[in-house]
Amino acid sequence: MKRETIRTLTTHYIDGAFVESHGREVMDIINPTNGQVIAHVTLADEEDARRAIAAAKRAFATFGRTTKEDRMKILRHLHEAVSARIDDLTDAMVEEYGGVVQFASPIVQSGANAFLAAEKALQELPLTRSWDKTTVTLEPVGVAGLITPWNANALFVCAKLASAVAAGCTVCMKPSELSALQTHVWLECVHEAKLPKGLCNVVIGRGDVVGAELVRNPDVAKISFTGSVGVGKSIMRDGAATMKRVTLELGGKSPNILLEDADLKKAIPTALVVAFLNSGQACAAGTRLLVPKSRLDEVKRAIVDTMPAFPVGDPTDPKTAVGPMVTQRQYERVQSYIRKGIEEGAEVLVGGEGHPRGLEAGYFVRPTVFVNVKNNMAIAQEEIFGPVLCVITYETEEDAIRIANDTSFGLHAFVSGTDVQRARRVASQIQAGRVAINGMLDDQQAPFGGFKHSGVGREFGTYGIEAFLEPRAILE
Ligand code: NAD
Repeated sequence: MKRETIRTLTTHYIDGAFVESHGREVMDIINPTNGQVIAHVTLADEEDARRAIAAAKRAFATFGRTTKEDRMKILRHLHEAVSARIDDLTDAMVEEYGGVVQFASPIVQSGANAFLAAEKALQELPLTRSWDKTTVTLEPVGVAGLITPWNANALFVCAKLASAVAAGCTVCMKPSELSALQTHVWLECVHEAKLPKGLCNVVIGRGDVVGAELVRNPDVAKISFTGSVGVGKSIMRDGAATMKRVTLELGGKSPNILLEDADLKKAIPTALVVAFLNSGQACAAGTRLLVPKSRLDEVKRAIVDTMPAFPVGDPTDPKTAVGPMVTQRQYERVQSYIRKGIEEGAEVLVGGEGHPRGLEAGYFVRPTVFVNVKNNMAIAQEEIFGPVLCVITYETEEDAIRIANDTSFGLHAFVSGTDVQRARRVASQIQAGRVAINGMLDDQQAPFGGFKHSGVGREFGTYGIEAFLEPRAILE
């Protein structure tokens, strides 16, 4: 087997420059398609984090007073710089994370577009309002700590930076340590954009070291976090000591309601796209497919017939729909849920435990669809974060809405049906931050975020910028 060249990364990005890590811990980055080490990364420690926060604090003294036009110009520069490296960023995501190119390529493009979307939102957002003798201005909250996960790094780092910059905040970012290679390519773009020094500082390190320092440091005013519910709760709790403002984008167990009049030729391919999105490692994935009991047999046949369109394998192949899981740990997590589903009495319609044949070297799992699932089973209530779909039957529209909402999450939902009025009526009763009707849809001006345990606050559009602002009223 061909051995890859092992790269070495030893720097973080602080005060407009790549600087050697003070932290000494070295971590291996592993290619999930074959388990081979592809890079050694020196991780940041608390001192690196404090240096980055100090740089952001110094920069805020000036950047916090910039005009809308100044910030819009910076957002355009960032868009140009990231757009120039779309292919390199995509390649890095495919190699380091195993994201399939058919997902990685649009997600990187969305990252680049996030800067223009933030520019548009900023243009539309009134930062000053006055009436009688009162004037309210929306002021940047201060230094923002941005913490992101490994599953769509390019989009998260761009979208969080875009909203923070639009608001006039300076940032100290901690991407997932599993995304170090992708982040380094992205940092070359940030450097190329020639931002004011200290506006964007990035340290690559562990959550319980660098992330924890961001959460407790009194010079960080706000944490914008994307990741798991457990860490989100700890950030809310620990951030209270310094009265941190928090935006938390957490997990999901999104329902996909197939209405009685749904056209299965369209609805089933869509259901599998949303279930296996990002190889199932997507917070918004539609992992509970709610189908009318009367149509279950038809749905089962349609799923089996459609599965060949979702091949698992080499993520660099544009035809591949499902790539490997990010780590061995994630592979094992998915396996344990497939086992649990079987133990709970659900029936495997397609897939099952183990590696797909011929893909034993990497962290590949078999895309799996369970039928005979009850909504109270662990596989229907807990976020698996892998390509595992649960099919659950319902009797009536009210029943479907009740099951859809019978979850601790509320990030996303999907509704498929021919009668759009009816689909809208159902959508309006779902407790989720976003509900997509007839497709996997996106709009970067629409808010993204969760009800219930899926989080606190919203990102994107004017909602995302407001999350980095504080109103100040002056009364005469
Ligand atoms: P995670 O919570 O383990 O880690 C997320 C980030 O937090 C990483 O950078 C990690 O290093 C850091 N972190 C860990 N412990 C920390 C601590 N004590 N203090 C501060 N930071 C800490 O999540 P993950 O495994 O990287 O990502 C998967 C999770 O992310 C899933 O639950 C998924 O649903 C969620 N997610 C949510 C969204 C959304 O927009 N709602 C998007 C993508 C992923």
